[in-house]
Order: sequence, then C-alpha cells, then structure tokens
Amino acid sequence: MRQSVPTIALTGLCCDHNSTYLRGSAGAPEKIRAALYSGSANLFSENICHLKKMSLKDFGDHQIDETDDSYLGIEDHIIPLLEAGHRPLILGGDHAITFPVMRAMTKFFGSLAILHFDAHPDLYDHFDNNPYSHACPFSRIMEEKLAQRLVQVGIRTLTPHQKSQINRFEVETHEMKQLVKTPYTPDFNTPLYLSLDMDVFDPAFAPGVSHHEPGGMSVRDVISIIQAIDCPLVGADIVEYNPVNDINSMTAMVAAKLVKEILAKMQE
Ligand code: MN
Ligand code: MN
Repeated sequence: MRQSVPTIALTGLCCDHNSTYLRGSAGAPEKIRAALYSGSANLFSENICHLKKMSLKDFGDHQIDETDDSYLGIEDHIIPLLEAGHRPLILGGDHAITFPVMRAMTKFFGSLAILHFDAHPDLYDHFDNNPYSHACPFSRIMEEKLAQRLVQVGIRTLTPHQKSQINRFEVETHEMKQLVKTPYTPDFNTPLYLSLDMDVFDPAFAPGVSHHEPGGMSVRDVISIIQAIDCPLVGADIVEYNPVNDINSMTAMVAAKLVKEILAKMQE
C-alpha cells in the first residue's frame, strides 16, 4: 500500500511568561515567518524540497494568556491538529511550551522519544517557585512519562541538582564538551519528537536568545544531525528565539533555515 505524505501543521504559540530572565520570545513566530518569506533566501530545503510543494498547512499563531490554565491549555490547541492527521511544527514561545505540547503528543502517539537540543537541560524540579518555568519542562515531561527516551544534545550548563535529575530520569545527555571529541549521531528506532532551543547554538551564530551561553554548536552541526535522523519525525518545536536580543534578524534567519530543514525531514 502506498503511504501518503503526512501533512504538517505549522503553528505559533506566543507564550513567554514562564521565562526566568527576559521576556520577548512570545514575539518570535511573527519574526520567524517574516524571515522565512522575506525573499532573502529561496524556499527550498537542502534536499531540494520547495516549501510550497510540501504538504503544509499554516494554522497561524495563538496568544497564550499569562495564567497556568491558559499555559496548560496549549495541549488543547495541539490535539485538534493531531486529530486531523497533521504532524505539528510549533514555533515558540519559550521552552515551557514543550510540556503541554508533549501531553497532547502522547495522547495521540503514545510515549515518544525526544531529541532535545539545548545549552540547558531544563530539568530543574522548580525554579523561582514555578514548576512550569522554562527551566523545568523536561522534569514535568519525565515525571509524567511523556517520553520513553530523552536525548539531550549541546548541554553546557550543568549544576549538581540538574546532574542528579539526569540520573533520576535516566536522560541521555551529550554535553558540549563531549561533542567536540565524539560527534553525536541520532540512533532512534521509534517515532521521534524534536525540541530545538535556539540557545543550543553558539551566541556567535544566534545572538537572538534570552540566555547567551558561549561555547555552543554551529548551525551546520545541528542541521547535519537533523538530516541524519532516520526514523519518523512526528512533531517538533523551535523555541526561545528572542527578537529583543537579535541583531539584524540574523537569528530569525537561522530559525527560518531550521524550519525548512525540519519540515523536509518531517515530510519523509
Ligand atoms: Mn530550553
Ligand atoms: Mn536553553
């Protein structure tokens, strides 16, 4: 039987009230779309797939109110997309969005593997007394068993607490200091969700983030890993782009490039 190409639902979640240091990522979806369609680059991915030829539907952006109910209600924005048979590509927003998104994903796909690019493990139990802080989403995800495997790449900000959380949840963490000697190759054999925090990049490549953490990955490093994924990619988010800190929209352009590469991979 011929398998149909999955439709991808692009949607933005304008939500940054769980950020600990700087607001601004709620403005990201609009800026990433603007960069994508600016005419500065063509709309082809590197495997020569044109965005307009992909099975893509744009569902626009949702403004999320600054309450826990609205934040957790993100799940209800994603479920209808999944029920309609779409694979979501979500533009954040800060990284807090990934927890309610994964609640939705799990309802539909069961427990997925997650490939998580980030400078930070985001495994704090609580941060500033907020369990939904963008420093905590992967603790919530692992507590609720929303991922059968969590693989983190690019980490360079461990603390004793977060190290103990890694052990507690049996997270597979590829720290930046190891990647220099041992490049990471994806090895998933189950459907996968990709969560890309823009601060995984060295700030030289992507200054438009809330937390500049030097010593990070190059754009090429991350694209090469995404292109090497060889299992179904059923959902993804690009989070933590903060236009307030960007310079000449260069980080928006990095995010737009990643949109094209992730879409191409999701279409396979
Ligand atoms: Mn993060
Ligand atoms: Mn981060």
